[in-house]
Formats: sequence, structure tokens, C-alpha cells
Amino acid sequence: MARRENGARPIRRTRPRTCVGCGTESPKKGLIRVVRKPDGGVSIDPTGKAPGRGAYLCASADCLREAKKRKALSRCLKVVIPESLYDELESYIAGLPERKD
Ligand SMILES: [Zn+2]
Repeated sequence: MARRENGARPIRRTRPRTCVGCGTESPKKGLIRVVRKPDGGVSIDPTGKAPGRGAYLCASADCLREAKKRKALSRCLKVVIPESLYDELESYIAGLPERKD
């Protein structure tokens, strides 16, 4: 992460990454990024670096369910989330190694 501190204009916007399912702020690494790409498509962004508007979700099936129920991802990304993306997220979460931290 590039950090510039040359006294010009302190832009100190540390955006909290908030899960769209449970609303809990988590450090970035614990959240899955879903990105709305410049072309309007939506996909999972495992690198966290894809360009576009991002929404974050805990790596948890519960949060995914909650987000789906409340259409939180659609709201956050201002785009209709295809059913297939939820399926993709579900298998993505299921395939993640369990985190113990
Ligand atoms: Zn969550």
C-alpha cells in the first residue's frame, strides 16, 4: 500500500471494510471482495485489487445468506446480482481454508 506523507493534503480516509451481511467491520483479509467491474459485470475478487466498486462480505455462509436475503450486495453495488454469483460465492466460501485468527 503506497503511503504518501509529504504534508500536502492529508487524505486520511481509512475506509472501514464492512460486511454487507452482518455489518461488522473486519480487517480486509477476513472479508471477500465482490466487485462491480467497469463493464457492469459482478464477480468475486480474490485479489482485492480489481478495479471497480467493491462490496465486502465475511467468508461466512451465514453472512452470505443474510446479504442475499436483504439484497445488500445489490444495494451496495447498485447493480442486480445474478443468482449465479451467490452460487459462486457459496462455493468460494465453502472452498476456503478455515481461518483461525
Ligand atoms: Zn459478516
